[in-house]
Amino acid sequence: MADEITLEVKCPFEGCENSKKIKVPSYIFDNKEFGSVKVQINRGIVCDQHQFVIFVDKKGRIRSYEKIDIQLEVERKEKETLDEDVDLNDIVSVIGDFALLNVLHALFLDIPVVIIVEEESDKRQTLLNNVCRNLFPELFESKKPLKFVNRTDYRKFKIKNLLAIDEKGFVLATPWTINQFDFEEFLLKKSLGAKDFKAQAVIFQQGITNFIKKVEYIQDLLKNKDVLYEEDIKSELTDHFMQKKVTDYDIDLIKEVLKFRYLEDISKIKLRSFDKLKESLW
Ligand SMILES: [Zn+2]
Repeated sequence: MADEITLEVKCPFEGCENSKKIKVPSYIFDNKEFGSVKVQINRGIVCDQHQFVIFVDKKGRIRSYEKIDIQLEVERKEKETLDEDVDLNDIVSVIGDFALLNVLHALFLDIPVVIIVEEESDKRQTLLNNVCRNLFPELFESKKPLKFVNRTDYRKFKIKNLLAIDEKGFVLATPWTINQFDFEEFLLKKSLGAKDFKAQAVIFQQGITNFIKKVEYIQDLLKNKDVLYEEDIKSELTDHFMQKKVTDYDIDLIKEVLKFRYLEDISKIKLRSFDKLKESLW
């Protein structure tokens, strides 16, 4: 197989006719264990107005598109690789915001992350791990670090339940089906505004710490109950943490963190409206 394959990408937005050929490395389709590959198409690549994600199957055919609107305004730098002195803007410039949001989500859930690289580099691996460690303070300590894997080894890779991304930002395997990361995006957006990495990390850590407090509060509630309703979690967060608006994503994220990081049985968390419906059917 050639080193690269060409994809004919059409902008999926209604009434928009823009299209362009883009090249992706062919090895990303070689691992038979994983499903489709997600490729972020930033504004300016295929279309000047729109950005989206394409899902490409193992044969290199585009299966679907998702219109993902990540509203991060990043000063994109000329950096090609992450060698020294990186901040969040550099990472977004190199791997893209979509891949970074996937990484942050995985770290939050304590799911292993592998980054597929052309050449392994201990220096870069340490550097990226340091960045992540600074974003997730004690929480991240002693947990699974990011691991670099070369392309040849990736072809034979069998572990499931991990996030695999390419160093250019192609998302090769995820243990989840969501593509929108509202909370992580909110935090990232907030952090990117800070002047240097130190300040960015403080903002990010604060956000994570606050969220973890909520998760642990819900974990306590869960301990003494057979059933905990999502509707009640929402009102608990409003009453106890004065959170004005609790979204469905907040609830989903709390459930996922409880399940993956805290290994809790989340089948006790249910929707009251759904239970009521079942009752009425009897
Ligand atoms: Zn377009």
